[in-house]
Amino acid sequence: MSNNIRVRFAPSPTGPLHIGGARTALFNYLFAKCTGGKFILRIDDTDTERSTKENEADILASLKWLGLAWDEGPGIADGDTQYYQSNRIKRHVDVANQLLESGKAYKDHEGVVRIKYPEGPIIVHDLILGDCSFETTVLGPDPVILRSDGRPTYHLASCVDDADFGITHVIRGQDHLTNTTKHIVLFDAMGVSCPAFAHLPLILGMDGSKLSKRNSDGLTVVSEFKNLGYVPEALINFLMLLGWSHPEEKEILSLEEVITLFKIERFNPTPAKFETPKLNHLNGWWIRHLEVGRIAKDSLDYLGDYRELVNSKSSSFWPSLVESFRSSFVFLSDAKKIAKLVFDLEIHLEPSIDKAEFIPFVKEWRDYLSNLMLEDGSDCPSTAQFKDFLKPFKKNKEVSQKSLFHALRLAITGELSGPDLSILVSYIQRDTLLQRADSFLR
Ligand code: GLU
Repeated sequence: MSNNIRVRFAPSPTGPLHIGGARTALFNYLFAKCTGGKFILRIDDTDTERSTKENEADILASLKWLGLAWDEGPGIADGDTQYYQSNRIKRHVDVANQLLESGKAYKDHEGVVRIKYPEGPIIVHDLILGDCSFETTVLGPDPVILRSDGRPTYHLASCVDDADFGITHVIRGQDHLTNTTKHIVLFDAMGVSCPAFAHLPLILGMDGSKLSKRNSDGLTVVSEFKNLGYVPEALINFLMLLGWSHPEEKEILSLEEVITLFKIERFNPTPAKFETPKLNHLNGWWIRHLEVGRIAKDSLDYLGDYRELVNSKSSSFWPSLVESFRSSFVFLSDAKKIAKLVFDLEIHLEPSIDKAEFIPFVKEWRDYLSNLMLEDGSDCPSTAQFKDFLKPFKKNKEVSQKSLFHALRLAITGELSGPDLSILVSYIQRDTLLQRADSFLR
C-alpha cells in the first residue's frame, strides 16, 4: 500500500479513555504502522460543557502508557493547536457558509442548517462489514451541520477536519455506522472524495450486554486497569484479540509482531466479548515474560508504604525478589503481598487454627534461627540453611512432614499456603523471623 495513508483517532474529552476507545486507537495505530502511514490524534473538544482538561490528560497519558504514540497531534510540534477541534470552529463555520452559498445546504424554519439527503439509498463501503446500504427514508431528517445558535455539529467538524487533514481511512466503532451515511453526503457536498471506512465491531461485556462508553461501573477505563496492576502489553494483547485473529491463531501477541502481519480484513465483524479471565491470564503471562527489571520497577508503584522499605535495601534486592516470585503474580499489585510477607514484623493467625501440634516444630525453628551463623554480609538465613534445618526431620519417620510444613509456614507467614518457603526466608531478616516465631508461640 502507498505511503500516504493517514488515519486519526478522535476522542472527545468528555470522559477518560475507555477500553473501546483504546481499541479504536490501537487499530488506527496498527493500520498506520503496517502501511507506513501516519497516525494522527485529534481532540474533538467542541462539546465545551462536557469536555475537561482532566479527561484530555487522562486520554493522552493512557495512550502513551499503551505505547500508541501518535505521529501528529497534541504535543508533537509547533502548530499542534490545530489538532484541537475547538480551535477550528471558524473554519467549520466557513465551510457551512460556503455550502449555504452554493445551495448544497439550507437553513430550515428553525434556523438550523442542514444538508440534503440524496434520493435513494446511501451505501457505506466498509472494509470490515462489506457494503451496507441505508435507505434515507429510515435515516431521519436531513443531517444538521450548524445548530440554531451557529455552532457546528460533530458531523460538520469531523468531516471538515478529516478532509483538511487528508485522512484516507476512518476507523471507528460500529456505533458510528449511521453517522457515516451523513458524512458520505457531507463529503460529497464539500466536493472532496470520501475516506475509506472501517467500523469496528462492538465490545460486549461478559454478560453479553454492551460495554457502554459512558458507563463508569465495572472496569472500562484504561487508567483503572493500570491502577489495578495490569501491564500495557497485556491490555494491548487482549484488545488485539477482540475481533481480530492471528493467521495461526496465536494468543500471545505484541504490538511489534502484529504490525508486521496486520490486515484489517482479518477483522471479525461480529461483536467481541470482553472476557476478564482471559485478560488476567494474559496479564500473568506478560508479567512472567517481560524483562524482570521493568516488572520490578513498575511494581514499585503498587507497594504503598512498603516502597520505602524496598528502597532502603540494596538495588538488587527487589528485582531479585520479583524474579523469584513473579510466577505467581496475576497483577503487578500482587508484588505488595510479597513485600508484606518479607517486611511485616508481626504475623496474623486465623483464630480457628489449632496451634498445639505445631508448637514443638516452631520452638525448634526458633532455636535454630537464633543460634544460626548467618552467611557473610547477610541478615537473612539462606535457602541452604533453611533446608539444613529440615534435614533431621526428614530422616525421622515419626515426624509428620505435613505438620512440619504447616508449622513453619504459619510461623513464617501466618498463612497455610503461599510461595516457596525456602526461597522466601532468604529475603526475610532473621530478627523479623524470630519476632514472628515469638508471636506464633505467644
Ligand atoms: N469524537 C468522536 C467520538 O469520540 C469521534 C468519532 C469519530 O471517529 O469520528 O465518538
